[in-house]
Amino acid sequence: MASVGKRSQAGSQKAALGARYGIADNPRNTLQRRVILQVLEGAPGHLSAEAISRAVARAFPEISRATVYRTLDRLEQAGVVSHTHAGTAGALYHLSDKPRHLHLMCNRCGKVTEATDVTSTESLGAELMARFGFAADPTHYVIGGTCAACLALASEDTPASD
Ligand SMILES: [Zn+2]
Ligand SMILES: [Zn+2]
Ligand SMILES: [Zn+2]
Repeated sequence: MASVGKRSQAGSQKAALGARYGIADNPRNTLQRRVILQVLEGAPGHLSAEAISRAVARAFPEISRATVYRTLDRLEQAGVVSHTHAGTAGALYHLSDKPRHLHLMCNRCGKVTEATDVTSTESLGAELMARFGFAADPTHYVIGGTCAACLALASEDTPASD
């Protein structure tokens, strides 16, 4: 789970984070923007809006849930944050400067794994464009399946047959 620094840390990181995401000179670069960026930077993986909202509330209870959701939208419009749809789990957020990746979501345990440098992503896109004229973005939705850990558990449960 992401953690948010103390108020003073949020302040001292203002310049670095703001500059990195090109919003340093924006007068609307408000506290809530910096705090949300800090939460996403500190997260080991992707976070739902609800998880971001809870992390923000732990350090800054005065920032409302509605403000977090609205600020996420604005950060997304600014191209700083992007989302991936994860079925019933809702949208998951990550910083846009991460390397392009697919999201592998386990249908059993819900774990989402980032898959970077999957070379066939480009050829899949090229084929879908050539055959269907469809500009696919395979990163915008998760790829469902079963993770390695759940596959291993399933094979333990299955009695050996011979
Ligand atoms: Zn979307
Ligand atoms: Zn992602
Ligand atoms: Zn799993």
